[in-house]
Amino acid sequence: MQHIIDRFISYAVIDTESDANSPTTPSTEKQWVLANLLVQELKNIGLTEVTLDENGYVMGTLPSNVAHEVPTIGFVSHYDTSPDFTGKDVKPQIVHNYDGGDIMLNAEHNIVLSPSYFQDLLLYKGQTLITTNGLTLLGADDKAGLTEIVTAMEYLVQHPEIKHGKIRVGFTPDEEIGRGADIFDVEKFGAQWAYTMDGSQIGELEYENFNAAGAKIIFKGKSVHPGYAKGKMINSMLIANEFINELPKNEIPQETIDYEGFFHVTGLTGSIEETKLELIIRDHDANLFQKRKEKVLDIVAKINAKFAAQFGEDICIAEVKDQYYNMREKVEPMMFIVDVAEQAMRDLGIEPIIKPIRGGTDGSRLSYMGLPCPNIFAGGHNFHGKYEYVPVESMQKAVDVIVRIAELTATTDFSKK
Ligand SMILES: [Zn+2]
Repeated sequence: MQHIIDRFISYAVIDTESDANSPTTPSTEKQWVLANLLVQELKNIGLTEVTLDENGYVMGTLPSNVAHEVPTIGFVSHYDTSPDFTGKDVKPQIVHNYDGGDIMLNAEHNIVLSPSYFQDLLLYKGQTLITTNGLTLLGADDKAGLTEIVTAMEYLVQHPEIKHGKIRVGFTPDEEIGRGADIFDVEKFGAQWAYTMDGSQIGELEYENFNAAGAKIIFKGKSVHPGYAKGKMINSMLIANEFINELPKNEIPQETIDYEGFFHVTGLTGSIEETKLELIIRDHDANLFQKRKEKVLDIVAKINAKFAAQFGEDICIAEVKDQYYNMREKVEPMMFIVDVAEQAMRDLGIEPIIKPIRGGTDGSRLSYMGLPCPNIFAGGHNFHGKYEYVPVESMQKAVDVIVRIAELTATTDFSKK
């Protein structure tokens, strides 16, 4: 356990915050520090083919130790942390034998991590928690994943009696700004499938995520002196408001759960002459996703028709762009890759929690790039903020799951699947 704690903290104290406004990869120079450390560690524990490319992607290989043919599998996590909250000067705190009560993260600023607000904490009574000091995020997302993958590879190197095929590990920059998979070299990685270790609570196993699109809509107006505006002025802000009113009232993030999709207005800025509205569209179901995009275009057409005579041209211009798709379509034809992970958890006494992700992962992008990639728990909670914490026991279990998946992959006859 101490070994996992030490390794996790050695990663957590390195600031690797990514930056969506930067055009480079990695988006921030400081991410190289951890990338280089990871390369050194993979070499130290005895992996082969350890590489760091010019974009900061780290890869390594644990060679097969069996004579028969076994599919090459991979484990992936990201080493950047979210720009939503500062990752500078992370000072992890350790709570031994958690008693189920409030945890004072920072006495000076009275910042408390309390189970009365974060009920999940009660799952971990008696366990060892790593928390923040209340002033930064922790970065368990996804330094827990890094810790688990490195530790599992080290364990397999030290325990050659455990049989496994070739295993590839991959660590990416810039996941938190949606670019982690962008230039991931799937061919070089060379795995038949992989798992991102980037979920939250122990037991989570995910292979469904949203289909996602973003829309930008420009509303044009006509400014006229308000005292003499009758029949002449068109206030673009009011047209945008009309558009929003046409969207289904209950299909918004704060009213939906599980497989329910939504429209989500993410930005609105305007003047009389021009208003810009941004929204995102999410749905697990490909047909409903398509219908949602059509709904947006239908409303736009309706508004354009209404103002056609008065404005003389389209008053409303929409641009709808797909962002990512549900990985289920790519994973379902090889469901055994989910079954193996589920079996590994059950063998270790972990109850699998299989539920659709209400978002996307690097794995969804990778799945469409030819690397089917379900997501497994990394153990942390309350990502992207000062209340982030991770139970050490969950990280240990994730290590065990990786080891068990490696073992099952070498002993399962996939030709019958
Ligand atoms: Zn993550």
